[in-house]
Amino acid sequence: MYRKNAWKKYEDKAPVMDFAEGYKKFITYGKTERLVVKESVELLEKAGFLDGSKAKSIKPGDKLYFLNKNKNVAAFIIGKKPLSEGLRILGAHIDSPRLDLKENPVYENNGFALGDTHYYGGVKKYQWVTIPLALHGVVIKKDGKTVEVNIGEDPADPVVGITDLLIHLSADQLQKTAAKVIEGEDLDISLGSIPVKDEEKDAVKKNVLALLKDKYDIEEEDLISAEIEVTPAGPARDYGLDRSMVAGYGHDDRVCAYTSLKAILDVEPSDYTSVCILVDKEEIGSVGATGAQSLFFENIVAKLAKLAGESDALYAAREIFEHSKMLSSDVSAGFDPLYAGVNDPKNAAYFGNGLVFNKYTGRGGKSGSNDANPEYYAWVRRSMDEAGVHWQNAELGKVDQGGGGTIAYILGNYNMNVIDAGIAVHNMHAPMEIVSKVDVYEAYLGYKAFLTAKE
Ligand code: MN
Ligand code: MN
Repeated sequence: MYRKNAWKKYEDKAPVMDFAEGYKKFITYGKTERLVVKESVELLEKAGFLDGSKAKSIKPGDKLYFLNKNKNVAAFIIGKKPLSEGLRILGAHIDSPRLDLKENPVYENNGFALGDTHYYGGVKKYQWVTIPLALHGVVIKKDGKTVEVNIGEDPADPVVGITDLLIHLSADQLQKTAAKVIEGEDLDISLGSIPVKDEEKDAVKKNVLALLKDKYDIEEEDLISAEIEVTPAGPARDYGLDRSMVAGYGHDDRVCAYTSLKAILDVEPSDYTSVCILVDKEEIGSVGATGAQSLFFENIVAKLAKLAGESDALYAAREIFEHSKMLSSDVSAGFDPLYAGVNDPKNAAYFGNGLVFNKYTGRGGKSGSNDANPEYYAWVRRSMDEAGVHWQNAELGKVDQGGGGTIAYILGNYNMNVIDAGIAVHNMHAPMEIVSKVDVYEAYLGYKAFLTAKE
């Protein structure tokens, strides 16, 4: 169903609304990639997926997951056909733009203890001031003990935040460009203002560190080996008087991660091996051990090839990839009537019209993009239409208006067929992003259709 409003399909909206409840819970808890991995593994294990690192053999119908450094996970349902005939891969990223505490973050200035941050990913910095923020992450102590930090989500918790200048004294500030009105180095969070008794120097900072010591048994130096992420505080919520949308933090790209994960949780073993891979670090270039460019995925596919009896497993992995099909599941820029001018309306993603396919992304003449082959796109169209899934196509805005990338090109490098497929988002990369519930549901149906589609 190409470019038709999907709400009209649902006289009974309960399946759409119920699915959104699960999703809201998922992102309300999953404020970091580690938390998303944790809840994903819980859901996988509940559905009978086993830890693949312990597998001694594989056979059709086996359900396995592989964990990578607690920030990257891949789930497989072994298909009836041999692996060499290719995989059906859903890939999404689970990192989202945010502020990370620096290694040495805590300092005192004029009676305030502050936490210094370095922003992560593409953010409009002015959007991150004067909103309640939470602290999530881990501190790894020298003895290897992991301390989990979670402050600001429980309504009884305090929150933190970043100040902005009062309007009354903003004459100079308001002359600055939006890129400069809040500078990256000024994204420092307020941590406290009570001094410890009988101390002159850094008395407020000492008090904050004492609180951390008391609650988490950590020293200031332990923050060096930590990943503390500053994220918007509070739950995802219904948006719009008709509750048709979800407002929340991290739809990019946890909305595609959740729908992809739910798809593999809910499909039966099919002809081709089903895969869902959730990766980290997309927002900073898919780099490193837990990003899409990591050899992790190739290594586990080689491991599966070995378990399937291939003697040259690495070569076999390459062959498997070459015959694979992938949906690079990432969000699209939803057409926003308030900013209509940045889109080509013929090739824009509209809320309510279902799963969005982007033949290409990139910027400045498709640069850096995976440009999907039309032969593959035709197969995708057929698969969606046969399953009655609502879908649409889009480009990321008008030519030369900007741009962006996804993980599509990375898997494309293996010579597999890849196309971008995701959900339209408003306010992308803002602390509060918006998606349409019916698009979330259609994406889930589309991902299931992809995993189970015939040749
Ligand atoms: Mn994304
Ligand atoms: Mn993004």
